[in-house]
Amino acid sequence: MTEKKDVIVVGAGISGLLTALSLSKEGKDVLVLEELPAIGGVCRSYMVDGYQVDTGAHIITRTGQGPLRDLMTRYFDVIPNFVPHGKYYVLLNNRMRPFPWNLQGWFNFDIISEVDRIYLMKTLFSVSYLYNAGETFSNKSIAELLGTGLSSQTMRFLDCISMFMSGASMKETPVARFLDSESYKSKSNNVLEKLYNVLMKEGALDQVYPKGGLQSIITAIESSFPREKVEIKTGEKVLKIDTGQKKVETTKGEYSYNTIVYSAFACELPNIVEGLSEEYKRTLKKLPKTSAMMIWLGLDEQVFQKDGSEIWVDSDPYTWVVPISNYDPGLAPKGKQLVGFMSKLQENADPEKEKKKALEAIYKIKPELEKKVNMIHYQILIPEKAAWTVNTQFTGIRTPMKDFYLAGTDTEKKSMGITRASYSVLKLLDTLKEDKVI
Ligand SMILES: Cc1cc2nc3c(=O)[nH]c(=O)nc-3n(C[C@H](O)[C@H](O)[C@H](O)COP(=O)(O)OP(=O)(O)OC[C@H]3O[C@@H](n4cnc5c(N)ncnc54)[C@H](O)[C@@H]3O)c2cc1C
Repeated sequence: MTEKKDVIVVGAGISGLLTALSLSKEGKDVLVLEELPAIGGVCRSYMVDGYQVDTGAHIITRTGQGPLRDLMTRYFDVIPNFVPHGKYYVLLNNRMRPFPWNLQGWFNFDIISEVDRIYLMKTLFSVSYLYNAGETFSNKSIAELLGTGLSSQTMRFLDCISMFMSGASMKETPVARFLDSESYKSKSNNVLEKLYNVLMKEGALDQVYPKGGLQSIITAIESSFPREKVEIKTGEKVLKIDTGQKKVETTKGEYSYNTIVYSAFACELPNIVEGLSEEYKRTLKKLPKTSAMMIWLGLDEQVFQKDGSEIWVDSDPYTWVVPISNYDPGLAPKGKQLVGFMSKLQENADPEKEKKKALEAIYKIKPELEKKVNMIHYQILIPEKAAWTVNTQFTGIRTPMKDFYLAGTDTEKKSMGITRASYSVLKLLDTLKEDKVI
């Protein structure tokens, strides 16, 4: 006898867990199936030698009025405690400056030449004007937009920012990725307000780190589950989904469903679901994955003092430095500092060689660190199920299969990471309402 559930959710990453929480609060009985022994996917924390590391350095965006806030207001009983991120500092040509969010910031951003800054501001104005007039900029890359008129240092800066915004180089990152911000597409018709946003508004004010680490978000979701409505089975990999019989086969059992939400990698669907059309398989193939290299260093003292994180354009590979114990000293043993260093892992690269290279790059920028390190921990992770490049075709929520929906970072292009995952869950809920499932 197979057990029948209203909803089966495949994958217990943040997308799967937010789906399970919202659908259970909408009255559904939900079964979550997770391959790994722990829930959270790439949004969780664990202990290493007395330090609590996260699965990757994380700063969560749009927490003021964005999609995660919306889901928290609607469905969370316990709200995580967030600490403001502070500023982003850019290291270029051996000098550090706050990231320029507005015109004033650009005037002071003297680590790139004045000529280049004026050129970039002009380009930004004409692009934001055309964007507000309806141009989408989805298929034009940053490199294509800018051409060859800028200095190599400025190009390096833009390439590095592209890498952190989309997971891809400036040749692959669409201009639209940079315009995907509330301040550009203002809902207001007031020209002065729009202009103020572009000229003066400090960006990223609602970016945060969760006190207690990433795990605190997962704990908040778990604590908000209506107990009798949600069952989570870990260490149970989904092997096959029979969309005709509406049955799921896992490494440990078989279950049947009325509705299924698949929040694992959509590109894996051809291995899990039989009979997909060639056209759908082609869509799923257009979901580019990128990998990240994380190095966590436990330091004997607080070396990084700034109120925020650092973007090292000078280093090879480009590196984002987030001292998470500055937000919550409890993540490190007393008096010590825990710092995450994130860079992109090149495709087909030898991970062992890349680990060595990334660590050497850190010590090259900050030689004094080497003597203060008491813990080194490496992670190789996939930040999003699909990077937003000029060619990416995000899947959307509906699939060609009946009562079969998708959620997660390969369904939706808006924003990034946890914010993108949350947008996907909101879209899923709207779709399920339209289809009268909830
Ligand atoms: C290094 C790094 C840095 C990041 N930085 C940020 C940041 O600064 N800000 C931000 O907002 N986000 C950031 N992110 C991204 C964010 O963590 C992810 O986008 C988000 O957690 C993805 O959630 P998800 O549920 O969509 O996917 P996942 O977390 O990948 O969850 C998918 C789950 O499905 C499970 N699964 C897969 N196949 C099967 C199967 N066959 N059967 C059962 N289970 C299966 C997996 O084990 C996993 O638990 C970062 C991520 C990384 C790795």
